[in-house]
Amino acid sequence: MNYNDMIRYYTEEKRLKETVKISEEELLKQRDFIGKIRKFNEDYEKKNNRKRTMHISTFGCQMNAHDSEKLQGILEEMGYIGCDDEMKADVVIYNTCCVRENAENKVYGNLGYLKHSKEERPDMKIILCGCMMQQDTVIDTIRKKYRHVDIIFGTFNLYKMPELLYTNIMTGSPITDIWKEHGEIAEDLPSVRKYKYKACVNIMYGCDNFCSYCIVPYVRGRERSRRSEDILKEVRSLAHDGVKEIMLLGQNVNSYGKNLGENITFAKLLKMVNEVEGIERIRFMTSHPKDLSEELIYAIRDCDKVCKHIHLPFQAGNNEILRRMNRKYTKERYLELIGKIRKEIPGIAVTTDIMVGFPGEGRKEIEDTIDVIKKVGFSNAFTFIYSKRTGTPAAIMEDQVEEDIVKENFNDVLKALNEIILEINKEKVGKVFSVFAEEVSMGNSEFLTGKTDDNTIVHFRGSDDMLGNFYNVKITDCKTFYTVGEIVEEN
Ligand code: SF4
Repeated sequence: MNYNDMIRYYTEEKRLKETVKISEEELLKQRDFIGKIRKFNEDYEKKNNRKRTMHISTFGCQMNAHDSEKLQGILEEMGYIGCDDEMKADVVIYNTCCVRENAENKVYGNLGYLKHSKEERPDMKIILCGCMMQQDTVIDTIRKKYRHVDIIFGTFNLYKMPELLYTNIMTGSPITDIWKEHGEIAEDLPSVRKYKYKACVNIMYGCDNFCSYCIVPYVRGRERSRRSEDILKEVRSLAHDGVKEIMLLGQNVNSYGKNLGENITFAKLLKMVNEVEGIERIRFMTSHPKDLSEELIYAIRDCDKVCKHIHLPFQAGNNEILRRMNRKYTKERYLELIGKIRKEIPGIAVTTDIMVGFPGEGRKEIEDTIDVIKKVGFSNAFTFIYSKRTGTPAAIMEDQVEEDIVKENFNDVLKALNEIILEINKEKVGKVFSVFAEEVSMGNSEFLTGKTDDNTIVHFRGSDDMLGNFYNVKITDCKTFYTVGEIVEEN
């Protein structure tokens, strides 16, 4: 199938489905399977004097991390408890990502190690899910070379995990259940949150953009938005549980609401979430520059809880590369958009994604990328080396770039970025910011790590009973990717 055929295939009218919620009946059916497995596990505990355990490894983006919270919630309802060592767990789940080749290779490598554990403990259940599983070649490889895998499901049927696990326990037969199209949006799944005071909320699934290097639209399906009433119900319930910061998630949040049959846009949704009592900060990702409306800029400006930070991936600064990437904007349009955002919201932090090594990218093209970096002054960026993904149009482009050229260009991009990020951080030294204490610092348990409204990472002295609160922190020092400060007062 060539690129145009692929686009046609995914945009055919008959494949467009209205967003529908999973039925009560289906949800009850899955709850019934959860109850049955819970009973097995209770019996097991009585007999063996220990609870069954689980280990979930998550690869890839925030969407996957959020899906893993749902999987963990379901397994906890079944009576499983967490286990740090995947070799010893009773249920091991790999929630996979296919955006980059090295993440896929890691999954294959880990599966090799698990084979020995499965031979020693045949009752162990190995489950694979996520984007990687939506590719036929991956399923073929796993079924041929990794026969110890018990269950495989994809990105569209996560809610059926209880049924698949129950069936596998009862029959002992491997199960592969991959849907090629999305069906219902599953609401009200049990979920476990890593943090008590901040949470992610999916507002939409899938992507219609078909950037030529990206596999996401093929493995996550067409864009479909959740109903605003369901999103608000979830946000209110999180606020009721003590959550103060919400991250609204979608592959392209700016096109939220299309095909939903509601008179709603992402800007309107932001305003509604802004009204929810108890929520103090709202973040969102990811935005696509081509869909960023003036209405949204005004909403970010006017909503007091929406953080003054926007993550706006530009990927490349050269117009020909952008055209071949199918990004649907130019360097000039991107810079104009940033100008508009900064005019309306002075001081807003802009972060981005940059890809280096796309086919055809040489010295001249990378200079255009560096020019955008200098003109915008990004506060931070995710930088990636292009990874060839089979099935995408870019994978069959002839002018793939040699590794040593990619590395050199990548280093130049990093150098330009790091200089600017450090300069931006230096300007914060001596100033006081409201910082949300999010976790105990990894390297030093006497310090907490938090973020300012504009997404700056701040380390400051504190203890875990202070997590989930806001503090006025004076920045005393900075490095490229973080700052250090001291509390002036709790606010
Ligand atoms: S916007 Fe482009 S890069 Fe982002 S998920 Fe969609 S196709 Fe992939």
